[in-house]
Amino acid sequence: MLAHNLGFPRIGAHRELKFALEQYWRGEIDREGLEATGRELRAAHWRRQQEAGIALIPVGDFSFYDQMLDHSAMFGVVPERFGWDGKEIDLDLYFRMARGRAPSGEPVAACEMTKWFDTNYHYLVPEVVKGQRFALSSRKLFHEVAEAKAQGIPFKPVLIGPLTWLWLAKVKGESFDRLELLDELLAVYDEILGQLAALGALGAEWVQIDEPALVLDLPVAWQQACEAAYNRLQAAPVKLLLTTYFGGLEDNLGLALSLPTAGIHVDLVRAPSQLEAVLDRLPPYKTLSLGLIDGRNIWRADLDAALDTLESAVGRIGADRLWVGPSCSLLHVPVDLASEDQIDAELRTWLSFAEQKLGELGVLARAIVKGPDSVASQLAAARAALTARRTSERTHRPEVAERLATIDDAMLSRRSPYAERRPLQRSRLELPLFPTTTIGSFPQTPEIRKARHDYKAGTLPEADYVVRMREEIALCVRKQDEYGLDMYVHGEPERNDMVEYFGELLEGFAFTRFGWVQSYGSRCVKPPIIFGDVSRPAPMTVDWITYAQSLTDKPMKGMLTGPVTILNWSFVRDDQPHADTCTQIALALRDEVLDLEAAGIRAIQIDEAALREGLPLRRRDWQTYLDWAVRAFRLTTSGVRDETQIHTHMCYSEFNDIIASIAEMDADVITIETSRSQMELLDAFVDFEYPNEIGPGVYDIHSPNIPSVEQIVELMRLAAQRIPTERLWVNPDCGLKTRGWAEVDPALHNLVEAARRLREEFADQAAG
Ligand code: GLN
Ligand code: ZN
Repeated sequence: MLAHNLGFPRIGAHRELKFALEQYWRGEIDREGLEATGRELRAAHWRRQQEAGIALIPVGDFSFYDQMLDHSAMFGVVPERFGWDGKEIDLDLYFRMARGRAPSGEPVAACEMTKWFDTNYHYLVPEVVKGQRFALSSRKLFHEVAEAKAQGIPFKPVLIGPLTWLWLAKVKGESFDRLELLDELLAVYDEILGQLAALGALGAEWVQIDEPALVLDLPVAWQQACEAAYNRLQAAPVKLLLTTYFGGLEDNLGLALSLPTAGIHVDLVRAPSQLEAVLDRLPPYKTLSLGLIDGRNIWRADLDAALDTLESAVGRIGADRLWVGPSCSLLHVPVDLASEDQIDAELRTWLSFAEQKLGELGVLARAIVKGPDSVASQLAAARAALTARRTSERTHRPEVAERLATIDDAMLSRRSPYAERRPLQRSRLELPLFPTTTIGSFPQTPEIRKARHDYKAGTLPEADYVVRMREEIALCVRKQDEYGLDMYVHGEPERNDMVEYFGELLEGFAFTRFGWVQSYGSRCVKPPIIFGDVSRPAPMTVDWITYAQSLTDKPMKGMLTGPVTILNWSFVRDDQPHADTCTQIALALRDEVLDLEAAGIRAIQIDEAALREGLPLRRRDWQTYLDWAVRAFRLTTSGVRDETQIHTHMCYSEFNDIIASIAEMDADVITIETSRSQMELLDAFVDFEYPNEIGPGVYDIHSPNIPSVEQIVELMRLAAQRIPTERLWVNPDCGLKTRGWAEVDPALHNLVEAARRLREEFADQAAG
């Protein structure tokens, strides 16, 4: 019986990797400097896992940007536009694929990014073409394995499996069934596994092969392909641990267990009930790894329950072929609770980050190997913490429950339908055809960050801080005057993060100082922890927005993060349904919306960037989620008068399967991400005959490249082929906080100029 790990956060307890990456991109350190940071982080993380008693330590979970992109590079899958010479893929080519540019090489359109299963982590979508060739083209994994070996680390290489990689790949150009590529792809896996085995002695006995695709609804052809794939890979001279997570195997359970792999890992946090079936059907030769420690949340584990589960499994199959691990990679939780000096003592005892989770795994393994008495004090401490959390008055507040009970249907609908609201809004807001706006944030300069930081640290007095932020807001308003935008935003200088900002002002949330979790590349988020009932003690944004509005006659958008996004981007309590927590947040936001309206704000945007990613992985569970998510949005927004315009914004969203729910949200305007997909994403709105207004993003803000007037006009023409022009807005595809003014100035000038040309071009059509 051993404890192993599936993956460790790579960004570093103090985001060392982020800073090194950004220095490298800015040309402040060279490639060797960046590589050195990578090596140091890997070595430190391996050592810590070893110290915690982890017997098999994942290697290959490190990445300079994204693990899916690492695999695409390893397989030599580089889209043609990158002009790859077919040799070993170097770091700058890799970064150009990730973000469109690198210190060397031509700027080019980056690969698409999208969410990794139902997490808030983004991967780079592999692009494959008909006749795609595969060739081992990056030796990163082997270098890391050699490194671990040299350091005496008991390692286990980690690969994303062929089924999952191919499932997540997107066909470009001529359409074809990407399963056709499987054979060629498997040839590369053969080669990789062979080379890993050749690395010999100490390690690479086991290889962890991640197949989270096995918890999805898979078409029969894919299930069959999976079987064929693993039949072929069984010839490889390594032991494969088929690793599944983020849900239960369900209809893929028989398949997964019958594949000829030496071991299987199952997620018992998300799907505890699958254990019985797994034990019943586990072939006698197979090692079973039980994912019992939650890799997706930060609560201290119920070790008694986990131990019960383990013991019952030991009773069934013995301890020899049983492992214990986290439910999934620990990539999705912060690194170390020990650095949190500002969380109160009680709350701390309820929590567990990656380091603490390793400790929990160690305790479970010891309890089995040496008996529960050997870890009695650890078990007792975990038990006490859990009881305290369950019974605390900080988690259950009667006044919140009472208010929830008062929600009625009238609170869930706007007074009139969109068609009646539209003319009232158009005349009040004085909007032209193709109105222009932005998504909310403007560049967050080092000075802004410093001001916020100093204010938090107590070295910048509140009054001075307010002055600084107001200066920044005034700057944003002046900039928007210069560009000539039609609807303004205040720029969000006071927010370091769109969820954290609100969480800090709401009851029931707690915050970490270093609880960073990688979102994509060098970007991290610090999710709040929702530990108790939520309420709003006081208005959160009204002062900032009304100040911004006082500087201009143009409509200033109120700017809030929606209830579903706040929920999905937080660590959520696990002692009540998510829907209830979401409704609590919605009620608090509803009060804010009404306060903004009462203060004279004419348009309010409620960002629901995370609505789609909250979709359950299994389609069967979708409607229930969508129903409560839409209800929460409507509860937030429906209190306003008809002439108040409600906007919502969603990034990275593919709407095809959820368009009916998007329409049910009944926002007057929705702004979405479309620029990387050439307006393809709009098709969903066309097919559904989406009735309200749409701003398809025409400026890919995730890339430093500046869109030209012609590019924007061209994209909007594509949009206008699909959506009636009088319902189109022109806007970037997301907030601009990660960009610099040097990029934003020309981009928004071009955007406004493009809108001007479009108005001319389409004037006749609109008139007719
Ligand atoms: N209003 C937010 C911003 O502009 C929206 C960000 C997002 O959707 N991710 O930053
Ligand atoms: Zn966005």
